[in-house]
Amino acid sequence: MLGHRCDNPLCQWVAPGHVVVSSAQENRREWAQRKELAGSPLGDPRGARRRARALRDMARRDPREVAAELDRLRRLYGEQMQLPLG
Ligand SMILES: [Zn+2]
Repeated sequence: MLGHRCDNPLCQWVAPGHVVVSSAQENRREWAQRKELAGSPLGDPRGARRRARALRDMARRDPREVAAELDRLRRLYGEQMQLPLG
């Protein structure tokens, strides 16, 4: 399987350096390690998938809300890699 470095469960971007060859076991192990890192976006109590869905739904409603929400999340949980546009 391919493991994403962005920790965004909705991500479909496949590019060198963004995804790595992994296994389900290795992916779970890395997730558990990164979740415990101070400032990790995986520390969001909603969980990575709910966080990603909330941001996606917000972008559909009003894209202007997303920048403010990302700033808030960045202060609370750290940086989450941006998805490429286009
Ligand atoms: Zn990704």
